[in-house]
Amino acid sequence: MEWYRRSIVRLLVVEDESRIADFARRGLEGSGYAVDVAPDGGQAMEFIHGTNYDLVILDLMLPDIDGLDLLKRIRNRKASPPVLILSARDAVDDRVKGLEQGADDYMVKPFAFVELLARVRALLRRGQPTPEKLQVGDLVMDCIRRKVVRSGETIELAPKEFTILEYMMRNSGRPLSRTLIVEHVWDVEYDGLTNIVDVYIRHLRSKIDDRFPEKMIQTVRGVGYMLGAVDKAEA
Ligand code: CA
Repeated sequence: MEWYRRSIVRLLVVEDESRIADFARRGLEGSGYAVDVAPDGGQAMEFIHGTNYDLVILDLMLPDIDGLDLLKRIRNRKASPPVLILSARDAVDDRVKGLEQGADDYMVKPFAFVELLARVRALLRRGQPTPEKLQVGDLVMDCIRRKVVRSGETIELAPKEFTILEYMMRNSGRPLSRTLIVEHVWDVEYDGLTNIVDVYIRHLRSKIDDRFPEKMIQTVRGVGYMLGAVDKAEA
């Protein structure tokens, strides 16, 4: 019987970088969650022993313990909350290892708060996990191993390019404004730098579109960009 379940949702943020911890805590508290912050693994385990958290947000690089070891300890407990891993960009091995060792989702720093909130909500809903593979037309992305293939050809992307493309693939067929892309991909401090989106889109086009007859990235006049093959009947 869960109907009397407490209405407060408790989150634990395990992060030693106070700027990131504060950024996450302020935003999450503003979204109605009760948030504790542990700056190291020892403090995190103390909190976890004392409180039933609904979700743990776990940085992998901690001063006193490897985040993956902490993940194992959390997983060994009887009541094991979902774990969202945070880690430095590009640590592909960590991403794979973390998910293999039972993390529920993985986010690469720096991240936009809207993305963190979306993932937290998704995990709390216990909905379907984020799909590991995305496909739009002949473009395929392996989100865990961070690989992109078009028509069987592997495409090398820089981390930001990858993040933008992942966002566009998750929203394929939907026009995305430059502001939306900036908010999703960069930290809030980059607000206003929407021109940078055009630069990255140019890079992405040269990598995923130029050699192929069918273009994936569409310019949506007055809005921004959209990923998806143009309907041949309309073209
Ligand atoms: Ca850290």
